[in-house]
Amino acid sequence: MIPFLDIKAINSRYRDDLVEAARRVIDSGWYVLGNEVKAFESEFNSWCKTNHTIGISNGLAALRLVFEAWIEQGKLERGDSVIVPANTYIASVLAITAAGLKPVLVEPDEDTYNLSLKGVRSAMTSEIKAVLVVHLYGRIAPMDQLAPFCSENNLLLLEDAAQSHGAAIAGKACGVWGDAAGFSFYPGKNLGALGDGGAITCQDEEFAKLIKALRNYGSHRKYENIYQGSNERLDEMQAAMLRVKLQYLNEDSNLRRDIADQYCRQISNDKIRLPIIPADRDEHVWHLFVVRSKMRDEFIEHMSKNGVQCMIHYPIAPHKQLAYQTEFASLSFPLTERIHEEVVSLPISPTISKDEVNTVVAAVNSF
Ligand SMILES: *Cc1c(COP(=O)(O)O)cnc(C)c1O
Repeated sequence: MIPFLDIKAINSRYRDDLVEAARRVIDSGWYVLGNEVKAFESEFNSWCKTNHTIGISNGLAALRLVFEAWIEQGKLERGDSVIVPANTYIASVLAITAAGLKPVLVEPDEDTYNLSLKGVRSAMTSEIKAVLVVHLYGRIAPMDQLAPFCSENNLLLLEDAAQSHGAAIAGKACGVWGDAAGFSFYPGKNLGALGDGGAITCQDEEFAKLIKALRNYGSHRKYENIYQGSNERLDEMQAAMLRVKLQYLNEDSNLRRDIADQYCRQISNDKIRLPIIPADRDEHVWHLFVVRSKMRDEFIEHMSKNGVQCMIHYPIAPHKQLAYQTEFASLSFPLTERIHEEVVSLPISPTISKDEVNTVVAAVNSF
């Protein structure tokens, strides 16, 4: 069976370096907010070409803390509305509601699965104070249009870059387009820790300082608390793991792009709708390779019989989740609902071999 994602194989490639990094942390005797986190933050700055990176405990907390910081600064008030794509992973929506804000779900563009300028425009009201753009499946949203629109309309712009490390428009990567961005280093993400991890990037120094306090009990100096913060620190062990893996991230993205190219060139089946490859290779880092089928159950069964494990991202849209029954039960998003009924993800791990890619292609084509 070709597994959908073999995280053990991914990390085995760097086993010696990871063990050495773990040994370094163990022997240092310092496990929270030390040299590893500092070094990772600085290395991530260089890689992302951003001014500030703040290591956070996970991606959801990263997004939530940005909203909390804006509330602390008086730029947002609890109850303000935030635009978010209706077809995102639920964590994006959870970050908004956890900060006491109101998500305004917007249908995505069907070709890219991301927010479009048209979609954002159509959802605009005077209540909207911010946009949470999600670079879904690893493809960057049209930030060259969304960022100017947000600044012209005084909207705060937060990027959910949990799936899109390195996706760029004209060499400018996600993480630097908005007022801030949240990254996830969950083990299955393109840059994955060996546990939970996340980061916030931003350009503004004062904002970075505020985030550093909010992740650490609202404190800059031990036992002096100026904000009602929380504990959302990235730990030294995960920072050390991430420092090893960050060095290979661009290589991995290229491996993913090569697999996506081959899938798109060689898969040919009327019953399967392929993703659209952007003209600029940098725009997509292929966190997921998502196809669509009107006969999804039969397709997954067929793939499994042919030795290929597929997954669904995601089977239930946020507005259909029980968790949001009160808020969203009356809402309908036909395109989002159709997407959730039809999507299937093919394996696109950087560790799968040429032979395995050929097996996946043959299996799709014989459906
Ligand atoms: C994974 C993910 C998150 C949350 O990140 P965690 O580190 O798992 O908390 C947020 N948004 C999107 C789009 C994600 O895929």
